[in-house]
Amino acid sequence: MSEPAIIRPDKQTFLAEENPFEAMMERFDHAAKLLNLDRGLYKVLRNPEKQIIVSIPILRDSGEVEVFTGYRVLYNTSRGPAKGGIRFDLNVTLEEVKALAAWMTWKCALVNIPFGGSKGGVVCDPSTMSMGELEKVTRRYTSSIIEILGPDSDVPAPDVNTNERVMAWIMDTYSMHKRHTVTAVVTGKPVEMGGSLGRREATGRGCMIVTREALAKLGMSFKGTRIAVQGFGNVGSVAADLMAQAGATIVAVSDKSTALYNPKGLDVQELLKWVKERRQLGGYTKAETISHEQVLTVDCEVLIPAATENVITRKNAPHIKAKIICEGANGPTSAAADKILEDKGVFVIPDILANAGGVTVSYFEWVQDRGGYFWDEDTVNRRLEAILVRSFGEVMAMAEKHKVANRIASYIVAVDRVAGMHRLRGMYA
Ligand code: NAD
Repeated sequence: MSEPAIIRPDKQTFLAEENPFEAMMERFDHAAKLLNLDRGLYKVLRNPEKQIIVSIPILRDSGEVEVFTGYRVLYNTSRGPAKGGIRFDLNVTLEEVKALAAWMTWKCALVNIPFGGSKGGVVCDPSTMSMGELEKVTRRYTSSIIEILGPDSDVPAPDVNTNERVMAWIMDTYSMHKRHTVTAVVTGKPVEMGGSLGRREATGRGCMIVTREALAKLGMSFKGTRIAVQGFGNVGSVAADLMAQAGATIVAVSDKSTALYNPKGLDVQELLKWVKERRQLGGYTKAETISHEQVLTVDCEVLIPAATENVITRKNAPHIKAKIICEGANGPTSAAADKILEDKGVFVIPDILANAGGVTVSYFEWVQDRGGYFWDEDTVNRRLEAILVRSFGEVMAMAEKHKVANRIASYIVAVDRVAGMHRLRGMYA
């Protein structure tokens, strides 16, 4: 029988561009092959340890009952307690949470902190919910997954659409169940209740540190460097601010509401003030408005995708002009785009290195909470800098050794560390 006359999408490519877990796995497979990972360990590391799906019923302000879906995935805990953020977003899926939990595993291993990886999410649109409704969702979600949470087992942190306020509710709910205060159950808390100085800025600061290292490697510096930033939230806005302070010119920024462009440089301080007052960039008139897509392809030396996954694809990658891409977001580049960027000679600082500043200072927060002794901001920033500069160097050395792109090099460093721990521990079977 002949094949039906329909054009099928190339399954492999389709998955790599659309499914974040498959995209992550494609890179993992590449690293595993170069590491010569044995078959058994390969199978173990390809599968998440635990996947939880919960229904979260709440009473809305209108008096109506609404049921949300929540996920928590613990990918791997061989190196220590699981660590990973919680996001509230309509686009949350189990596949996405699995991918994010795996990335957390590799990220913690890459910067060599004693954590495994996890992630969580609730399918909801916080912009349509009152503060009271958000609190109810947070507390009910926390109590639904309470068995797996804890400073020694699984430690959440903020992610897209969650913040210090949400972490404080999680800490309180967990502590009420345990009948004593447990600050180390979450990181990214308000400083007054055991949060770390420098945590809010840590991911953006990390982006600044690794971009500075990458610029130096290419014989450049922030002075005279033009930068475009997609996403002006926690990561993107701090990265833009610190890089502008270091002498760079921020030529484009965007958020969900708009995209702004000024080839002579945007006033980042003014934009920060604007967003603080209005919670979005939209309405700002002292810059040209461009399309969201154009932010990725404007004339610049550094591009910082700091919004969401899968934004740099096979379609737009050929048009990117930046010499360096610093992945503030998790998984912003599809596997197909990776190949195009590599052929173009773009220097990619992969997500698990570029945005690892956040989890590094989360680790500092967890250490401070458990020790009950808190560090000043300079100490936090100095220790963060040391870890990221060392990790950047390790990735560069691995890229050189295996003649591979930075992303695969960072996976090799990370997967080797996780695999090494499994070998030492052996299998309980
Ligand atoms: P956030 O919610 O504070 O900010 C997200 C920003 O992206 C907002 O400005 C939003 O309007 C914008 N955005 C969303 N979709 C967009 C689009 N299509 N085009 C342009 N802008 C868009 O979130 P965040 O904490 O800054 O996280 C951003 C990314 O960084 C996520 O991928 C997250 O997983 C990752 N990350 C965050 C941290 C952290 O410490 N916050 C740490 C590591 C990685």
